[in-house]
Amino acid sequence: MGRSDAGDRDYKQVVRDAIDSMGENIEIKIDSKDINTIHLHEATKCLRLSYYDRTDPIDTEQTQFNKVLGGLFRKMKSHSSIGKYDMGGGLTLKGQVDMIQEDVILLFRSIDKFPENPLPVDMLYVNACMWMFNKIEGVIVYITPDGKEDSFVTNRNQKMFEEVIKRTRVFQDFLKENRLPIIEPSQDCLTCPYYERCYIRKKEGKQISIASLFGKFGKEDKI
Ligand code: SF4
Repeated sequence: MGRSDAGDRDYKQVVRDAIDSMGENIEIKIDSKDINTIHLHEATKCLRLSYYDRTDPIDTEQTQFNKVLGGLFRKMKSHSSIGKYDMGGGLTLKGQVDMIQEDVILLFRSIDKFPENPLPVDMLYVNACMWMFNKIEGVIVYITPDGKEDSFVTNRNQKMFEEVIKRTRVFQDFLKENRLPIIEPSQDCLTCPYYERCYIRKKEGKQISIASLFGKFGKEDKI
């Protein structure tokens, strides 16, 4: 056992290809041209991110891995389901749950570190699923790379669902009018593949230190 030397088979690439092909089979298929069907995971995350994913996507290993994890649960067909919510005017919101067990909606997410509270994007998603599948309880299950699991239980909330409905309509308008949504600044931007399109190029960002500020505005610059 050991790392492969130069000239050997590129095992990293083999693994990457394997994950990619799993992702292809199980990821939620979006027809980017069909703007009358909006997917729940598009409406619950940053709308600009969803817009880029449809119109000019960048695929990353991280997003592929998350697709695989959720997808593995959804692949268990006896447990997963696709729900549709008719929004009127020909617009449909489509959502897929990872699992429904004993009338409880279950959502599985990989995460580096357990959060103190469930992530807002996951709250919106699981809550919308409760409305779409007519259930009143949901559980978000976080799984860390070492295989540990922690869960949050939540009840159905109408206001949160109304927000998702509004976001779905707004997102469709952006697509219809070919307009780029405004940025939604959050911690998620730090790991977003489109960071450089919204802000500055990461590596060229100049660090500003307190010391340099003092150097620049010394005593003589006092107002
Ligand atoms: S960097 Fe932030 S604002 Fe820009 S698309 Fe990503 S999540 Fe949205």
